[in-house]
Amino acid sequence: MSDSPKSGFKVIIAGGSVSGLTLANALERAGIDFVLLEKRDIATDVGQSLFVLPCTSLVHEQLGVGKATREVGFPILLREHWDGTGSLFCSSDELLQLYQRAKRPALFVDRHTFFTSLYDGLEDKSEARIRTREGVASFTESDHGVTVITDKGNVIEGSILVGADGVHSGVRTHMAELLQDKNPSASKALARGFKARYYVLAGTSYNHFPGNPEVAFLADGKGSNVYDEKEQVGGLTVAGVPGKVFWFIYVPMETPSEYPCRKFTQTDIDAVMTKYGHLRATGNCTFKDMFANLDKCVMVPMEEGIIKTSWNSGGRTVLVGDSVHKATSNLGMGGNLCVDDICGLVNGLVPLLERNPSPSTKELVQVFDQYEKQARPRAHFVRISSSIFADFECMSGWWTKMMKRVFPWIPASVKMRVFSWFDGSAPKLNFLPVKTGEDVAKYRD
Ligand SMILES: Cc1cc2nc3c(=O)[nH]c(=O)nc-3n(C[C@H](O)[C@H](O)[C@H](O)COP(=O)(O)OP(=O)(O)OC[C@H]3O[C@@H](n4cnc5c(N)ncnc54)[C@H](O)[C@@H]3O)c2cc1C
Repeated sequence: MSDSPKSGFKVIIAGGSVSGLTLANALERAGIDFVLLEKRDIATDVGQSLFVLPCTSLVHEQLGVGKATREVGFPILLREHWDGTGSLFCSSDELLQLYQRAKRPALFVDRHTFFTSLYDGLEDKSEARIRTREGVASFTESDHGVTVITDKGNVIEGSILVGADGVHSGVRTHMAELLQDKNPSASKALARGFKARYYVLAGTSYNHFPGNPEVAFLADGKGSNVYDEKEQVGGLTVAGVPGKVFWFIYVPMETPSEYPCRKFTQTDIDAVMTKYGHLRATGNCTFKDMFANLDKCVMVPMEEGIIKTSWNSGGRTVLVGDSVHKATSNLGMGGNLCVDDICGLVNGLVPLLERNPSPSTKELVQVFDQYEKQARPRAHFVRISSSIFADFECMSGWWTKMMKRVFPWIPASVKMRVFSWFDGSAPKLNFLPVKTGEDVAKYRD
Protein backbone atom coordinates (compact mmCIF):
# COMPACT_ATOMS: atom_id res chain seq x y z
CA MET A 1 0.00 0.00 0.00
CA SER A 2 1.35 3.42 -0.88
CA ASP A 3 0.25 6.94 -0.05
CA SER A 4 0.38 8.21 -3.61
CA PRO A 5 -1.75 6.87 -6.45
CA LYS A 6 -0.10 3.94 -8.26
CA SER A 7 1.40 5.59 -11.30
CA GLY A 8 -0.93 5.95 -14.22
CA PHE A 9 -3.45 3.23 -13.30
CA LYS A 10 -6.96 4.62 -12.99
CA VAL A 11 -10.28 2.92 -12.26
CA ILE A 12 -13.51 4.42 -13.62
CA ILE A 13 -16.43 3.44 -11.38
CA ALA A 14 -20.00 3.66 -12.72
CA GLY A 15 -22.40 4.02 -9.77
CA GLY A 16 -22.18 5.52 -6.30
CA SER A 17 -24.23 3.17 -4.13
CA VAL A 18 -23.23 0.18 -1.96
CA SER A 19 -20.80 -1.30 -4.51
CA GLY A 20 -19.41 1.92 -5.98
CA LEU A 21 -18.82 3.74 -2.70
CA THR A 22 -17.27 0.68 -1.06
CA LEU A 23 -14.95 0.30 -4.05
CA ALA A 24 -14.01 4.00 -3.98
CA ASN A 25 -13.05 3.74 -0.29
CA ALA A 26 -11.04 0.55 -0.84
CA LEU A 27 -9.16 2.02 -3.81
CA GLU A 28 -8.39 5.20 -1.91
CA ARG A 29 -6.93 3.19 0.98
CA ALA A 30 -4.90 1.13 -1.51
CA GLY A 31 -3.55 4.26 -3.20
CA ILE A 32 -5.15 3.41 -6.55
CA ASP A 33 -6.47 6.34 -8.58
CA PHE A 34 -10.17 6.36 -9.49
CA VAL A 35 -13.05 8.51 -10.63
CA LEU A 36 -16.60 7.64 -9.60
CA LEU A 37 -19.54 8.68 -11.77
CA GLU A 38 -23.00 8.64 -10.17
CA LYS A 39 -25.86 9.62 -12.43
CA ARG A 40 -27.99 10.83 -9.49
CA ASP A 41 -26.85 12.26 -6.14
CA ILE A 42 -24.92 10.25 -3.57
CA ALA A 43 -27.08 9.07 -0.65
CA THR A 44 -30.38 9.69 -2.42
CA ASP A 45 -32.96 8.88 0.21
CA VAL A 46 -35.71 6.83 -1.41
CA GLY A 47 -37.09 5.32 1.77
CA GLN A 48 -35.16 2.09 1.82
CA SER A 49 -33.16 0.62 4.66
CA LEU A 50 -30.30 -1.84 4.81
CA PHE A 51 -29.63 -4.89 6.96
CA VAL A 52 -25.92 -4.74 7.76
CA LEU A 53 -24.30 -8.06 8.64
CA PRO A 54 -21.20 -8.27 10.87
CA CYS A 55 -19.00 -9.08 7.82
CA THR A 56 -19.88 -5.71 6.29
CA SER A 57 -19.22 -3.91 9.58
CA LEU A 58 -15.83 -5.63 9.74
CA VAL A 59 -14.86 -4.36 6.26
CA HIS A 60 -16.11 -0.89 7.23
CA GLU A 61 -13.85 -1.01 10.29
CA GLN A 62 -10.92 -1.96 8.06
CA LEU A 63 -11.72 1.05 5.88
CA GLY A 64 -12.19 3.30 8.92
CA VAL A 65 -15.78 4.13 7.91
CA GLY A 66 -19.21 3.28 9.28
CA LYS A 67 -19.02 5.18 12.57
CA ALA A 68 -22.41 6.82 11.91
CA THR A 69 -23.98 3.44 11.10
CA ARG A 70 -22.60 1.86 14.28
CA GLU A 71 -23.63 4.76 16.45
CA VAL A 72 -27.16 5.01 15.14
CA GLY A 73 -28.08 1.32 14.73
CA PHE A 74 -29.58 -0.77 17.52
CA PRO A 75 -28.26 -4.33 17.46
CA ILE A 76 -31.13 -6.48 16.18
CA LEU A 77 -31.44 -9.27 18.73
CA LEU A 78 -34.91 -10.78 18.67
CA ARG A 79 -37.29 -11.79 15.89
CA GLU A 80 -40.98 -12.53 16.34
CA HIS A 81 -42.91 -14.59 13.79
CA TRP A 82 -46.67 -14.01 13.46
CA ASP A 83 -49.28 -15.77 11.37
CA GLY A 84 -52.07 -13.99 9.50
CA THR A 85 -54.53 -14.49 12.36
CA GLY A 86 -52.33 -12.48 14.72
CA SER A 87 -50.88 -15.47 16.62
CA LEU A 88 -47.24 -15.46 17.58
CA PHE A 89 -45.97 -18.88 16.48
CA CYS A 90 -42.25 -18.40 17.09
CA SER A 91 -39.74 -16.07 18.78
CA SER A 92 -36.10 -16.55 17.96
CA ASP A 93 -32.79 -15.01 18.89
CA GLU A 94 -30.53 -16.19 16.04
CA LEU A 95 -29.31 -12.63 15.48
CA LEU A 96 -28.25 -12.35 19.13
CA GLN A 97 -26.38 -15.63 18.67
CA LEU A 98 -24.78 -14.24 15.51
CA TYR A 99 -23.68 -11.16 17.49
CA GLN A 100 -22.07 -13.38 20.13
CA ARG A 101 -20.30 -15.41 17.49
CA ALA A 102 -19.18 -12.60 15.16
CA LYS A 103 -18.51 -10.07 17.96
CA ARG A 104 -20.39 -7.51 15.90
CA PRO A 105 -24.18 -7.16 15.79
CA ALA A 106 -26.53 -7.26 12.82
CA LEU A 107 -27.81 -3.71 12.29
CA PHE A 108 -30.75 -2.38 10.28
CA VAL A 109 -30.26 1.24 9.32
CA ASP A 110 -31.58 3.78 6.84
CA ARG A 111 -29.58 3.93 3.61
CA HIS A 112 -28.94 7.61 3.97
CA THR A 113 -26.85 7.00 7.11
CA PHE A 114 -25.08 4.03 5.52
CA PHE A 115 -24.15 5.94 2.35
CA THR A 116 -23.24 9.14 4.17
CA SER A 117 -20.90 7.16 6.33
CA LEU A 118 -19.19 5.69 3.23
CA TYR A 119 -19.09 9.04 1.44
CA ASP A 120 -17.66 10.83 4.49
CA GLY A 121 -14.94 8.18 4.64
CA LEU A 122 -13.47 9.44 1.36
CA GLU A 123 -10.62 11.84 1.87
CA ASP A 124 -10.70 13.31 -1.64
CA LYS A 125 -14.20 14.28 -2.73
CA SER A 126 -13.03 16.66 -5.46
CA GLU A 127 -14.48 16.47 -8.95
CA ALA A 128 -11.38 14.59 -10.05
CA ARG A 129 -12.64 11.71 -7.88
CA ILE A 130 -16.42 12.03 -7.40
CA ARG A 131 -18.75 13.27 -10.13
CA THR A 132 -22.44 13.27 -9.30
CA ARG A 133 -25.36 13.82 -11.67
CA GLU A 134 -23.17 12.46 -14.44
CA GLY A 135 -23.50 8.88 -15.68
CA VAL A 136 -21.65 6.56 -18.03
CA ALA A 137 -23.40 6.77 -21.43
CA SER A 138 -21.05 4.55 -23.46
CA PHE A 139 -17.49 3.27 -23.53
CA THR A 140 -14.85 1.82 -25.83
CA GLU A 141 -11.99 -0.45 -24.86
CA SER A 142 -8.46 -0.69 -26.24
CA ASP A 143 -5.42 -2.82 -25.33
CA HIS A 144 -4.27 -0.13 -22.95
CA GLY A 145 -7.41 1.22 -21.35
CA VAL A 146 -11.00 2.32 -21.59
CA THR A 147 -12.61 5.55 -22.79
CA VAL A 148 -15.93 6.54 -21.24
CA ILE A 149 -18.33 9.08 -22.72
CA THR A 150 -20.59 10.51 -20.04
CA ASP A 151 -24.20 11.58 -20.43
CA LYS A 152 -22.93 15.16 -20.28
CA GLY A 153 -20.70 14.48 -23.28
CA ASN A 154 -17.43 14.47 -21.30
CA VAL A 155 -14.69 12.02 -22.21
CA ILE A 156 -12.88 10.18 -19.40
CA GLU A 157 -9.85 7.95 -19.92
CA GLY A 158 -9.06 5.15 -17.52
CA SER A 159 -7.29 1.80 -17.23
CA ILE A 160 -10.42 -0.21 -16.35
CA LEU A 161 -14.18 0.41 -16.03
CA VAL A 162 -16.12 -1.14 -13.14
CA GLY A 163 -19.89 -1.33 -13.64
CA ALA A 164 -21.32 -0.83 -10.15
CA ASP A 165 -24.48 0.62 -11.60
CA GLY A 166 -27.13 -1.74 -10.27
CA VAL A 167 -29.66 -4.14 -11.76
CA HIS A 168 -30.44 -1.79 -14.66
CA SER A 169 -26.72 -1.44 -15.39
CA GLY A 170 -25.96 0.64 -18.46
CA VAL A 171 -22.44 -0.81 -18.49
CA ARG A 172 -23.87 -4.35 -18.67
CA THR A 173 -26.32 -3.30 -21.39
CA HIS A 174 -23.49 -1.79 -23.43
CA MET A 175 -21.39 -4.95 -22.97
CA ALA A 176 -24.39 -6.95 -24.26
CA GLU A 177 -24.73 -4.68 -27.30
CA LEU A 178 -21.06 -5.18 -28.15
CA LEU A 179 -21.61 -8.98 -28.02
CA GLN A 180 -24.79 -8.92 -30.10
CA ASP A 181 -23.24 -9.87 -33.48
CA LYS A 182 -20.54 -12.20 -32.16
CA ASN A 183 -22.65 -14.19 -29.69
CA PRO A 184 -26.38 -13.33 -29.65
CA SER A 185 -27.34 -15.85 -26.94
CA ALA A 186 -24.60 -14.61 -24.56
CA SER A 187 -25.68 -11.06 -25.35
CA LYS A 188 -29.28 -11.89 -24.38
CA ALA A 189 -28.17 -13.62 -21.15
CA LEU A 190 -26.21 -10.52 -20.21
CA ALA A 191 -28.92 -8.04 -21.09
CA ARG A 192 -31.93 -9.88 -19.66
CA GLY A 193 -30.61 -12.35 -17.10
CA PHE A 194 -33.18 -11.69 -14.36
CA LYS A 195 -36.79 -12.60 -13.60
CA ALA A 196 -39.16 -11.42 -10.86
CA ARG A 197 -41.81 -13.39 -8.99
CA TYR A 198 -42.41 -10.93 -6.17
CA TYR A 199 -42.54 -7.19 -5.57
CA VAL A 200 -42.08 -5.30 -2.32
CA LEU A 201 -43.55 -2.19 -0.78
CA ALA A 202 -40.79 -0.84 1.51
CA GLY A 203 -41.68 1.91 3.96
CA THR A 204 -40.08 3.95 6.69
CA SER A 205 -42.42 5.29 9.39
CA TYR A 206 -42.05 7.19 12.64
CA ASN A 207 -42.10 4.52 15.33
CA HIS A 208 -45.29 5.49 17.15
CA PHE A 209 -49.00 5.84 16.56
CA PRO A 210 -49.88 9.25 15.07
CA GLY A 211 -50.67 11.65 17.91
CA ASN A 212 -49.46 9.13 20.50
CA PRO A 213 -45.66 9.27 20.79
CA GLU A 214 -45.75 7.07 23.90
CA VAL A 215 -46.89 3.93 22.07
CA ALA A 216 -44.30 2.43 19.71
CA PHE A 217 -45.22 0.12 16.83
CA LEU A 218 -42.26 -2.10 17.75
CA ALA A 219 -39.64 -2.09 20.51
CA ASP A 220 -36.12 -0.94 19.52
CA GLY A 221 -33.83 -3.74 18.34
CA LYS A 222 -36.69 -6.08 17.42
CA GLY A 223 -37.80 -7.60 14.13
CA SER A 224 -41.28 -8.90 13.37
CA ASN A 225 -42.12 -11.24 10.47
CA VAL A 226 -45.64 -11.99 9.31
CA TYR A 227 -46.65 -15.02 7.22
CA ASP A 228 -50.20 -14.71 5.91
CA GLU A 229 -51.53 -18.03 4.62
CA LYS A 230 -54.89 -16.65 3.52
CA GLU A 231 -53.65 -13.60 1.62
CA GLN A 232 -50.37 -15.28 0.58
CA VAL A 233 -48.28 -12.22 1.37
CA GLY A 234 -45.43 -11.77 3.83
CA GLY A 235 -44.23 -8.87 5.90
CA LEU A 236 -41.27 -7.66 7.91
CA THR A 237 -41.00 -4.79 10.39
CA VAL A 238 -37.75 -3.78 12.09
CA ALA A 239 -37.01 -1.07 14.65
CA GLY A 240 -33.36 -0.53 13.79
CA VAL A 241 -32.72 3.17 14.49
CA PRO A 242 -34.06 5.61 17.09
CA GLY A 243 -37.55 6.91 16.36
CA LYS A 244 -38.06 5.05 13.06
CA VAL A 245 -39.42 1.71 11.97
CA PHE A 246 -38.71 0.01 8.64
CA TRP A 247 -41.43 -2.21 7.15
CA PHE A 248 -41.95 -4.33 4.04
CA ILE A 249 -44.92 -6.04 2.41
CA TYR A 250 -43.85 -8.82 0.02
CA VAL A 251 -46.42 -9.64 -2.67
CA PRO A 252 -46.33 -12.41 -5.32
CA MET A 253 -46.82 -11.25 -8.92
CA GLU A 254 -49.83 -12.71 -10.71
CA THR A 255 -47.48 -13.82 -13.48
CA PRO A 256 -43.70 -13.93 -13.04
CA SER A 257 -42.11 -11.14 -15.02
CA GLU A 258 -39.25 -11.27 -17.50
CA TYR A 259 -36.63 -8.53 -17.16
CA PRO A 260 -37.17 -5.59 -17.30
CA CYS A 261 -40.18 -5.56 -15.00
CA ARG A 262 -42.68 -2.76 -15.07
CA LYS A 263 -42.27 0.21 -12.73
CA PHE A 264 -44.77 0.84 -9.92
CA THR A 265 -46.64 4.07 -9.28
CA GLN A 266 -48.39 5.73 -6.34
CA THR A 267 -51.64 4.12 -7.58
CA ASP A 268 -50.01 0.68 -7.18
CA ILE A 269 -48.83 1.59 -3.67
CA ASP A 270 -52.35 2.73 -2.73
CA ALA A 271 -53.78 -0.53 -4.13
CA VAL A 272 -51.41 -2.63 -1.98
CA MET A 273 -52.30 -0.63 1.12
CA THR A 274 -56.04 -1.00 0.41
CA LYS A 275 -55.70 -4.75 -0.09
CA TYR A 276 -53.18 -5.65 2.62
CA GLY A 277 -52.97 -2.65 4.97
CA HIS A 278 -55.25 -4.35 7.52
CA LEU A 279 -52.75 -7.19 8.07
CA ARG A 280 -51.04 -7.39 11.43
CA ALA A 281 -47.40 -6.31 11.15
CA THR A 282 -46.26 -6.57 14.80
CA GLY A 283 -47.91 -7.56 18.06
CA ASN A 284 -49.02 -3.95 18.30
CA CYS A 285 -50.05 -2.63 14.91
CA THR A 286 -51.13 -3.20 11.32
CA PHE A 287 -49.34 -1.98 8.17
CA LYS A 288 -52.09 0.65 7.83
CA ASP A 289 -51.18 2.03 11.28
CA MET A 290 -47.58 2.49 10.18
CA PHE A 291 -48.63 3.92 6.80
CA ALA A 292 -50.59 6.57 8.73
CA ASN A 293 -47.29 7.78 10.22
CA LEU A 294 -45.20 7.38 7.07
CA ASP A 295 -41.90 9.11 6.42
CA LYS A 296 -41.37 7.67 2.93
CA CYS A 297 -41.92 4.53 0.87
CA VAL A 298 -41.04 2.90 -2.42
CA MET A 299 -42.41 -0.09 -4.34
CA VAL A 300 -40.12 -2.14 -6.58
CA PRO A 301 -39.97 -5.56 -8.24
CA MET A 302 -37.62 -8.04 -6.57
CA GLU A 303 -35.56 -9.33 -9.49
CA GLU A 304 -33.82 -12.68 -9.06
CA GLY A 305 -30.92 -14.12 -11.01
CA ILE A 306 -27.20 -14.40 -11.54
CA ILE A 307 -25.72 -13.42 -14.89
CA LYS A 308 -24.67 -16.74 -16.43
CA THR A 309 -22.11 -15.40 -18.87
CA SER A 310 -18.76 -13.89 -17.84
CA TRP A 311 -18.95 -10.84 -15.56
CA ASN A 312 -16.20 -9.15 -17.56
CA SER A 313 -15.88 -8.14 -21.20
CA GLY A 314 -12.70 -10.16 -21.74
CA GLY A 315 -11.09 -6.74 -21.90
CA ARG A 316 -11.00 -3.81 -19.52
CA THR A 317 -14.57 -3.82 -18.16
CA VAL A 318 -15.91 -5.77 -15.17
CA LEU A 319 -19.28 -5.85 -13.41
CA VAL A 320 -19.94 -5.98 -9.66
CA GLY A 321 -22.91 -5.99 -7.25
CA ASP A 322 -26.53 -5.93 -8.38
CA SER A 323 -25.47 -5.51 -12.00
CA VAL A 324 -24.63 -9.26 -12.00
CA HIS A 325 -26.55 -10.84 -9.10
CA LYS A 326 -29.95 -10.11 -7.65
CA ALA A 327 -31.90 -11.83 -4.90
CA THR A 328 -35.23 -11.08 -3.25
CA SER A 329 -34.70 -8.72 -0.34
CA ASN A 330 -36.33 -11.03 2.26
CA LEU A 331 -33.06 -12.02 3.96
CA GLY A 332 -31.42 -8.60 3.45
CA MET A 333 -28.18 -10.04 2.09
CA GLY A 334 -27.89 -8.48 -1.39
CA GLY A 335 -26.06 -5.33 -0.31
CA ASN A 336 -23.73 -7.33 1.94
CA LEU A 337 -22.87 -9.48 -1.08
CA CYS A 338 -21.81 -6.32 -2.96
CA VAL A 339 -19.18 -5.70 -0.26
CA ASP A 340 -17.88 -9.24 -0.88
CA ASP A 341 -17.47 -8.46 -4.56
CA ILE A 342 -15.43 -5.36 -3.83
CA CYS A 343 -13.13 -7.25 -1.44
CA GLY A 344 -12.58 -9.97 -4.06
CA LEU A 345 -11.85 -7.52 -6.85
CA VAL A 346 -9.55 -5.21 -4.88
CA ASN A 347 -7.74 -8.15 -3.26
CA GLY A 348 -6.76 -9.17 -6.79
CA LEU A 349 -5.92 -5.70 -8.09
CA VAL A 350 -3.66 -4.59 -5.23
CA PRO A 351 -0.99 -7.33 -5.53
CA LEU A 352 -1.12 -7.15 -9.34
CA LEU A 353 -0.42 -3.41 -9.30
CA GLU A 354 2.31 -3.88 -6.68
CA ARG A 355 4.03 -6.27 -9.11
CA ASN A 356 3.26 -4.34 -12.26
CA PRO A 357 1.84 -0.79 -12.17
CA SER A 358 0.88 -1.05 -15.87
CA PRO A 359 -0.64 -4.53 -16.16
CA SER A 360 -1.67 -6.04 -19.47
CA THR A 361 -5.29 -6.73 -20.35
CA LYS A 362 -4.58 -10.46 -19.94
CA GLU A 363 -3.36 -9.96 -16.36
CA LEU A 364 -6.40 -7.82 -15.54
CA VAL A 365 -8.80 -10.39 -16.98
CA GLN A 366 -7.17 -13.03 -14.75
CA VAL A 367 -7.97 -10.85 -11.72
CA PHE A 368 -11.56 -10.32 -12.94
CA ASP A 369 -12.02 -14.06 -13.52
CA GLN A 370 -10.63 -14.91 -10.09
CA TYR A 371 -12.98 -12.43 -8.37
CA GLU A 372 -15.94 -13.94 -10.24
CA LYS A 373 -14.89 -17.49 -9.38
CA GLN A 374 -14.92 -16.66 -5.67
CA ALA A 375 -18.09 -14.58 -5.80
CA ARG A 376 -20.38 -16.91 -7.79
CA PRO A 377 -21.01 -19.59 -5.12
CA ARG A 378 -21.83 -16.93 -2.51
CA ALA A 379 -24.16 -15.14 -4.93
CA HIS A 380 -25.82 -18.49 -5.63
CA PHE A 381 -26.31 -19.14 -1.90
CA VAL A 382 -27.88 -15.72 -1.37
CA ARG A 383 -30.15 -16.05 -4.41
CA ILE A 384 -31.43 -19.51 -3.46
CA SER A 385 -31.84 -18.92 0.28
CA SER A 386 -33.57 -15.57 -0.32
CA SER A 387 -35.89 -17.17 -2.85
CA ILE A 388 -36.83 -19.96 -0.41
CA PHE A 389 -37.45 -17.43 2.33
CA ALA A 390 -39.60 -15.27 0.01
CA ASP A 391 -41.76 -18.34 -0.72
CA PHE A 392 -41.96 -19.17 2.97
CA GLU A 393 -42.92 -15.65 4.04
CA CYS A 394 -45.60 -15.44 1.35
CA MET A 395 -46.74 -19.00 2.09
CA SER A 396 -46.40 -19.95 -1.60
CA GLY A 397 -46.07 -23.69 -2.15
CA TRP A 398 -47.34 -26.77 -0.31
CA TRP A 399 -44.17 -27.14 1.77
CA THR A 400 -44.49 -23.70 3.38
CA LYS A 401 -47.46 -24.73 5.54
CA MET A 402 -45.52 -27.73 6.81
CA MET A 403 -42.47 -25.53 7.32
CA LYS A 404 -44.49 -23.12 9.43
CA ARG A 405 -45.34 -25.97 11.80
CA VAL A 406 -41.74 -27.13 12.01
CA PHE A 407 -40.19 -23.65 12.17
CA PRO A 408 -40.71 -23.03 15.94
CA TRP A 409 -38.95 -26.32 16.69
CA ILE A 410 -35.83 -25.47 14.70
CA PRO A 411 -33.27 -24.25 17.26
CA ALA A 412 -32.14 -20.61 16.83
CA SER A 413 -28.58 -21.93 16.55
CA VAL A 414 -29.61 -23.75 13.34
CA LYS A 415 -31.52 -20.72 11.99
CA MET A 416 -28.43 -18.63 12.68
CA ARG A 417 -26.44 -20.80 10.27
CA VAL A 418 -28.09 -19.20 7.22
CA PHE A 419 -26.48 -15.94 8.29
CA SER A 420 -23.36 -17.26 10.00
CA TRP A 421 -22.27 -19.41 7.04
CA PHE A 422 -22.44 -16.37 4.77
CA ASP A 423 -21.03 -14.01 7.37
CA GLY A 424 -18.21 -16.18 8.67
CA SER A 425 -16.87 -17.04 5.22
CA ALA A 426 -17.06 -13.51 3.79
CA PRO A 427 -13.85 -12.10 2.30
CA LYS A 428 -12.07 -9.17 3.95
CA LEU A 429 -9.64 -6.68 2.46
CA ASN A 430 -6.31 -8.54 2.52
CA PHE A 431 -4.20 -5.40 2.41
CA LEU A 432 -5.74 -3.78 5.50
CA PRO A 433 -5.52 -5.04 9.10
CA VAL A 434 -8.60 -6.33 10.95
CA LYS A 435 -9.27 -4.29 14.04
CA THR A 436 -9.93 -6.17 17.24
CA GLY A 437 -10.55 -5.55 20.93
CA GLU A 438 -10.55 -1.91 21.90
CA ASP A 439 -10.04 -0.80 18.31
CA VAL A 440 -13.53 -2.00 17.43
CA ALA A 441 -15.91 0.91 17.91
CA LYS A 442 -18.59 0.43 20.54
CA TYR A 443 -22.07 -0.34 19.28
CA ARG A 444 -25.23 1.19 20.58
CA ASP A 445 -26.90 -1.33 22.93
C1 LIG B 1 -36.63 -3.03 -0.92
C2 LIG B 1 -35.23 -3.54 -0.84
C3 LIG B 1 -34.66 -3.79 0.38
C4 LIG B 1 -33.36 -4.27 0.46
N1 LIG B 1 -32.86 -4.52 1.68
C5 LIG B 1 -31.61 -4.96 1.78
C6 LIG B 1 -31.04 -5.18 3.06
O1 LIG B 1 -31.69 -5.00 4.08
N2 LIG B 1 -29.74 -5.62 3.13
C7 LIG B 1 -29.00 -5.84 1.99
O2 LIG B 1 -27.84 -6.25 2.11
N3 LIG B 1 -29.52 -5.65 0.77
C8 LIG B 1 -30.78 -5.21 0.64
N4 LIG B 1 -31.31 -4.99 -0.59
C9 LIG B 1 -30.44 -5.20 -1.76
C10 LIG B 1 -29.51 -4.01 -1.92
O3 LIG B 1 -30.27 -2.83 -1.93
C11 LIG B 1 -28.72 -4.09 -3.20
O4 LIG B 1 -28.10 -5.35 -3.27
C12 LIG B 1 -27.68 -2.99 -3.28
O5 LIG B 1 -28.26 -1.71 -3.19
C13 LIG B 1 -26.95 -3.08 -4.61
O6 LIG B 1 -25.95 -2.12 -4.63
P1 LIG B 1 -25.25 -1.70 -5.98
O7 LIG B 1 -24.32 -0.59 -5.62
O8 LIG B 1 -24.69 -2.88 -6.67
O9 LIG B 1 -26.43 -1.16 -6.91
P2 LIG B 1 -27.50 -0.04 -6.62
O10 LIG B 1 -27.76 0.12 -5.17
O11 LIG B 1 -28.65 -0.35 -7.50
O12 LIG B 1 -26.81 1.29 -7.14
C14 LIG B 1 -26.50 1.53 -8.47
C15 LIG B 1 -26.11 3.01 -8.56
O13 LIG B 1 -25.64 3.27 -9.88
C16 LIG B 1 -26.21 4.48 -10.36
N5 LIG B 1 -26.21 4.38 -11.83
C17 LIG B 1 -27.06 3.67 -12.61
N6 LIG B 1 -26.68 3.76 -13.90
C18 LIG B 1 -25.58 4.54 -13.93
C19 LIG B 1 -24.72 5.00 -14.98
N7 LIG B 1 -24.93 4.67 -16.25
N8 LIG B 1 -23.66 5.79 -14.65
C20 LIG B 1 -23.43 6.14 -13.35
N9 LIG B 1 -24.23 5.75 -12.32
C21 LIG B 1 -25.27 4.95 -12.62
C22 LIG B 1 -27.59 4.52 -9.72
O14 LIG B 1 -28.09 5.84 -9.67
C23 LIG B 1 -27.30 3.94 -8.32
O15 LIG B 1 -26.91 4.93 -7.40
C24 LIG B 1 -32.62 -4.51 -0.72
C25 LIG B 1 -33.17 -4.27 -1.96
C26 LIG B 1 -34.46 -3.78 -2.03
C27 LIG B 1 -35.05 -3.53 -3.38
